[in-house]
Amino acid sequence: MKVEFYKHNLTQADKESCLKALEGYILTTGHIVQEFETQFAAYMKAPYAVGTSSCTNSMIMCLRYFGIGPGDEVITSPMSFLATSNAIEHVGAKPVYVDAEANTANIDANLLEAAITERTKAIIPIHLFGQLCDMKAIKSIADRHRLKIIEDACHSIEGSRDGIRTGELGDAACFSFYTTKNMTSGEGGAIICKEVDMHQWLLKCRIHGVTKNAADRYGKKYEHYDMTFLGYKFNMNNIQASLLLNQIDRLEDYRNQKEAIAQSYDQGFQNNPNIQIPAVLPNVHHARHIYTIWVDPQKRDEYLLAIQSKGVGVAINYRPTHLMTYYKEKYGYQPNSFPIAEKIGASTITLPLYPQLTQAEVEHVIHSVNLCIG
Ligand SMILES: *Cc1c(COP(=O)(O)O)cnc(C)c1O
Repeated sequence: MKVEFYKHNLTQADKESCLKALEGYILTTGHIVQEFETQFAAYMKAPYAVGTSSCTNSMIMCLRYFGIGPGDEVITSPMSFLATSNAIEHVGAKPVYVDAEANTANIDANLLEAAITERTKAIIPIHLFGQLCDMKAIKSIADRHRLKIIEDACHSIEGSRDGIRTGELGDAACFSFYTTKNMTSGEGGAIICKEVDMHQWLLKCRIHGVTKNAADRYGKKYEHYDMTFLGYKFNMNNIQASLLLNQIDRLEDYRNQKEAIAQSYDQGFQNNPNIQIPAVLPNVHHARHIYTIWVDPQKRDEYLLAIQSKGVGVAINYRPTHLMTYYKEKYGYQPNSFPIAEKIGASTITLPLYPQLTQAEVEHVIHSVNLCIG
């Protein structure tokens, strides 16, 4: 049996919505993107949403909006996809790391304050695997030190913790609609934010900083456009938005299906003393983006290959960013700089988790994993 690591959930309705978009004249950013933004903001209970080309680019724009650049420091976790740190690097600021919590792998809010310096301007917490960070604690520290919070919400559209939703306490939250995410258009992203000025700025920033885009100009009497600041080309297009629109309504249903699969996995591994599972804290509504197991770091790669040879798609989320050659060389990190993130990075194996997994496939994954990790 072969169990794919991931299958997207695009339906006939999504494909028809995409065909309809292709029949329109505006394939770039237009009314479908606007419709997506309205619906996404409503789902997130956020004042504003902006469609973009990726989460990485969304984070770059948010950092730029907050005036963060060379000489500034931004606190984040090394236990993330390297895109989080890359966004900080791209604006010329320095990523400063805080180690992970051993039980959840999220940034350890208890260590945060010690990492703050005069140069610190913002915190980028990542809601790893779909479980929210301790946003109440992070928010109170950020307020005390006048820091901005930009949430890397790639793993959690649907999540909440202690009654706090994704994006509720942050100044902005950034999302990805990359191929493997809970909602996808192949590539794409979004930002939710609270300030009207930020919203207006982002709408321009994603399209070079110009005052009118093609859709604004279409069908109207010609008017010159102007450029008021140096923006990027980070806009979402109508084709992407057409694929995303209907997925918003299915998010919760998919999450519930993934929750059931995650619980089957939990049960299937609970009697295996060589498998540890990240804790799900009380009062957490888990967005269930990634299901990962933690095993003996000495044997992880051997186990990974053995599981793969049983036809089960696997991944690693994540080898910590500070040990990537670029970061190691630029900032001189040595092993043991962030021991918990390093241990998690060396222990982790991600298993398939998506609504289309059949009962038989879930059983095959459980059986294969237990067989390989004896
Ligand atoms: C996928 C991912 C990103 C990057 O998203 P893109 O849309 O590909 O830029 C950043 N952070 C995390 C935690 C991710 O999982």
